[in-house]
Amino acid sequence: MSKLTDLIEDLVTANRILATQGIVDSFGHVSIRHPDNPKRYLLSRSRAPERVETADIMEFTLEGEAVDAKGRKPYLERFIHGAAYEMRPEVMSVIHNHSPGVIPFGVTGRKMRPIMHMCATIGHEVPIWDQHSKFGDTNLLVESMAMGRDLAKKLGKGRTALMRGHGAVVVGADLRATVYTAVYLELNAKLQMQAEAMGKVKFLTKGEAQKVAATTTPPNVNRAWENWCRKAERPYRE
Ligand SMILES: [Zn+2]
Repeated sequence: MSKLTDLIEDLVTANRILATQGIVDSFGHVSIRHPDNPKRYLLSRSRAPERVETADIMEFTLEGEAVDAKGRKPYLERFIHGAAYEMRPEVMSVIHNHSPGVIPFGVTGRKMRPIMHMCATIGHEVPIWDQHSKFGDTNLLVESMAMGRDLAKKLGKGRTALMRGHGAVVVGADLRATVYTAVYLELNAKLQMQAEAMGKVKFLTKGEAQKVAATTTPPNVNRAWENWCRKAERPYRE
């Protein structure tokens, strides 16, 4: 199989994993940058991630125009993806989700920080993007490049950002690492809520978070990926 075919299969798998891990429900999406053209990205048509098949994967320009839609309807919020790829050349994958644990942090302004080693890749402090600050009353969907770019600006150089009253965005240097971060962002949210109810929390220091993130390499990520593939009933590829 070609590299592109393999990556598209991995992208379908990522959709199923995010669903089985409870990171996305009927909504939310995951994309990869096109391996042969950095000005394009690949993302499913508008469909629940758990149902995504190879034929659903569409190609988009960074501005969110479908290259050959073949009658398929795209996600309304695809601009989250294009704007992140535009601003961050090293980013190869983007996830947008509304997992329940992250929502309370987005609306209270309580800073989310890594609470344990597996969660270090979320970054030392997760920024919160409030769409209302720049765009006023909206339907809370990221339905233009202007909104996507504003969100990407808030993400800055980090891997994660929360979206007030909406969800989160996660980016990474490859698809599997990005799925890994999205899964542990949700776990961090749940654990942080539990720990803060008990008392003052000593989070990972900035140095600890950086050291752990530096050792979160493909062999580690693949151990989780293989396990998640099996649970999602998808074939595992090394
Ligand atoms: Zn959304």
